[in-house]
Amino acid sequence: MRRPLVAGNWKMHGSRAGVAELIMGLRELALPADVEVAVFPPYVYLAKVVEELGRVAVGVGAQDCAIEPQQGALTGEIAACQLQDVGCSMVLVGHSERRLLLGESDDWVVRKFAAAQACSLTPVLCVGETLEQREAGKTLEVVGRQLAGVVDALGVEVFARAVVAYEPVWAIGTGLTASPEQAQEVHAAIRAQLADKSAEVASGVRILYGGSVKAANAAELFGMPDIDGGLVGGASLNADEFGAICRAAGN
Ligand code: PEP
Repeated sequence: MRRPLVAGNWKMHGSRAGVAELIMGLRELALPADVEVAVFPPYVYLAKVVEELGRVAVGVGAQDCAIEPQQGALTGEIAACQLQDVGCSMVLVGHSERRLLLGESDDWVVRKFAAAQACSLTPVLCVGETLEQREAGKTLEVVGRQLAGVVDALGVEVFARAVVAYEPVWAIGTGLTASPEQAQEVHAAIRAQLADKSAEVASGVRILYGGSVKAANAAELFGMPDIDGGLVGGASLNADEFGAICRAAGN
């Protein structure tokens, strides 16, 4: 039985005052015990969020990490071991905004994934197709290639300590959501691809859906057999809305 995970990606949003308000809202939420909940604030607020959410059952992750696991001479980057040092337990790797806007390659995604695990962080590997790729009928090919980049380089066993997030690029921040059936098709394909190498790893790995998840559509998406929770952007900036999404993932 996979425990659902709802992860809030705050992206490059927030200020000291705004983050304090959001933390206060999160601390007041009645969160379901059968759902794992985590938030991914901007780097500069990580330590504060870890400190303030330490007493409630909300994990903290980072939105990215450097390709090298340990601290060193790499100006402007943050090492996975530094994230672990400040209390993070997870890190997003390969978010589409980084792949598409910042030119992050599949090779870098693999190195970041490995760096995260080397420092005992759980990587959340983000995969997903653009609208153009979907319209060309290439969704499963694109997502399959992004997943294979990690499986071929590091082996399927690494997914025993990782999470996958399927995020169609056309649904991120657009208000458009994949239908539960569209999302399920891709989630099932991801699980089948992993099952080709290890049935045990495939049945245990959590695959999140991301792309304009909100309280109004969460229960329907999370009700699909291969959707194990959500990676939530915009809606995670409102504690009440985020809490409702977390409750939709519970049973
Ligand atoms: C995201 O950035 O991971 C995301 C899913 O964003 P949104 O929920 O705003 O579409």
